[in-house]
Formats: sequence, structure tokens, C-alpha cells
Amino acid sequence: MIEKRRKTTVEERVQVCHLCHLVRFCQRHHLLQFRIHGECNNGFTLPLCGACHESLHIALAAIVKKKKRASQLWEALVEALGKDNTWIQAIENQVYETCELVVENEIKYFDY
Ligand SMILES: [Zn+2]
Ligand SMILES: [Zn+2]
Repeated sequence: MIEKRRKTTVEERVQVCHLCHLVRFCQRHHLLQFRIHGECNNGFTLPLCGACHESLHIALAAIVKKKKRASQLWEALVEALGKDNTWIQAIENQVYETCELVVENEIKYFDY
């Protein structure tokens, strides 16, 4: 199932970020591992601006993978902005939604 990443269109690049809701240059974040699921799961990508994309990856590494450096970074950002910050909450909610989606699809993937 290895595929090449396809080039993004102008419409995909310039659009509303899924997490901060601002019009920015966006990147496609693959909700499911690209390596395993490839480009076929088009419904499973989110448009994210650079700042949100980096933050989501750090949050995933901190919250899901418990990586030390990522946890330090994520905790520092949460402390700087506050736990009640809507952007922080949007990222954390996305982390939990991603976990649910991954679990559902791993089950489907290995369901034979
Ligand atoms: Zn954003
Ligand atoms: Zn990503």
C-alpha cells in the first residue's frame, strides 16, 4: 500500500485551518499513518496551518507517546496559554479523536 504523496492543490494550501479556524497556508495532516494507509484515506486528512500542525504533533508525542521532550514542550505551552485556552483544548480534543479513529481503523485493518 505504499504510495507517493500527491501534490497539494492551491485550494488545499490556502484554506481555513481545522484547529485555529484562520485562513492560512495549510498542510494535510494524515490522521492515520501514511506509511500504512497511504493516500487512499482522503477523508482522514485535516487541513492544518504550520503552527497548529507542529503543535498537534508535539501534543500527540506528549500525550499518546509520553515522549519526554514533547511533554516538556507541551506542558510549557499549556502553562503559557492556560488550560482553558480554546486553542489548547481544540488540540487536545483532536489528540483524543485521533486515538479513537486509529483504534477503530486498526481493528478494521486487522479484521479478517
Ligand atoms: Zn491553525
Ligand atoms: Zn501531521
